[in-house]
Amino acid sequence: MSGPSKLDEPSKLLSNVDVFIFDCDGVIWRGDSLIDGVPSVLDQLRLAGKKIFFVTNNSTKSRVGYKSKFTSLGLDVQPEEIFSSSFAAAAYLEQTKFKDTGKKVYIIGEKGISEELDAIGVSWLGGEADKEKKADMGPGGRVEIDHDVGAVVVGFDRHINYYKLQYAQLCLNELPGCEFIATNLDRVTHLTDAQEWAGNGTMVGAVSGCTGREPTLVGKPAPLMIDYIATKYGITDRSHICMVGDRLDTDIAFGRNNGLKTCLTLSGVTTEDELMERAPRKKGTEGIQPEFYVELVEGQFADFFF
Ligand code: PLP
Ligand code: CA
Repeated sequence: MSGPSKLDEPSKLLSNVDVFIFDCDGVIWRGDSLIDGVPSVLDQLRLAGKKIFFVTNNSTKSRVGYKSKFTSLGLDVQPEEIFSSSFAAAAYLEQTKFKDTGKKVYIIGEKGISEELDAIGVSWLGGEADKEKKADMGPGGRVEIDHDVGAVVVGFDRHINYYKLQYAQLCLNELPGCEFIATNLDRVTHLTDAQEWAGNGTMVGAVSGCTGREPTLVGKPAPLMIDYIATKYGITDRSHICMVGDRLDTDIAFGRNNGLKTCLTLSGVTTEDELMERAPRKKGTEGIQPEFYVELVEGQFADFFF
């Protein structure tokens, strides 16, 4: 595959793209800080008549939670423009008519997932409610499960514990037809700038380890979110959509696997040396190349508009 080109003529991309999908962390913000210049890029794209969506693999917030985060950063974004992996888990359950089964979801994860399940009227257990629970491993001790659990959703969980793992293990190993859904598989995350933190790949790996099962993935790079957007907004030609992201194995793979144009920003986790394969690539990113790349969203990408 030939290498990506630096986007030195954004007009070529802009004239061919009607919809921009922005990854969030590393593109719009880093942790809790807005990346400089992002508001003007979004304003200019909107002025140019482009549709904009935001797609994040971080399941800890719901769409409504992300709306507040965008507002706190001074960005006016509607919940319907936000596609978090927590929303994707709920969208998957809606598409598969999970509610009609009358079953419940067991959550390993934070309130982004439970809020999205509340929004679609699906009953759930676990999550934040189980954060202090301990498995009784004394003589005869057991973890008792609700036999009406029909799916286990695993998202990033800063309060994961042995009780939750045992609960998920019992549901997935003992309840016939119980589904295993992963919001995302990011190995590490950038919760703070200080260091990389173990990501949801950790939680999913623990559940895979005790069940021998592979999850249904709903976050990037799985197609669910782009299929949802394309169907909802009647987009038939995906070559007019551009995915802008900082991560090769999630954002760029999401774009490439699903027929989108792709633009990598060097404002996040990928360095130019890694991109150009002058430095070792992070595991899982081998061979994944965007069509274009930009130094920073606010730099090259925005310059063209001014
Ligand atoms: N999951 C968690 C817990 C995170 O903290 C992050 C980034 O901060 C991500 C996933 C990746 O988010 P995004 O897809 O917006 O880069
Ligand atoms: Ca990112």
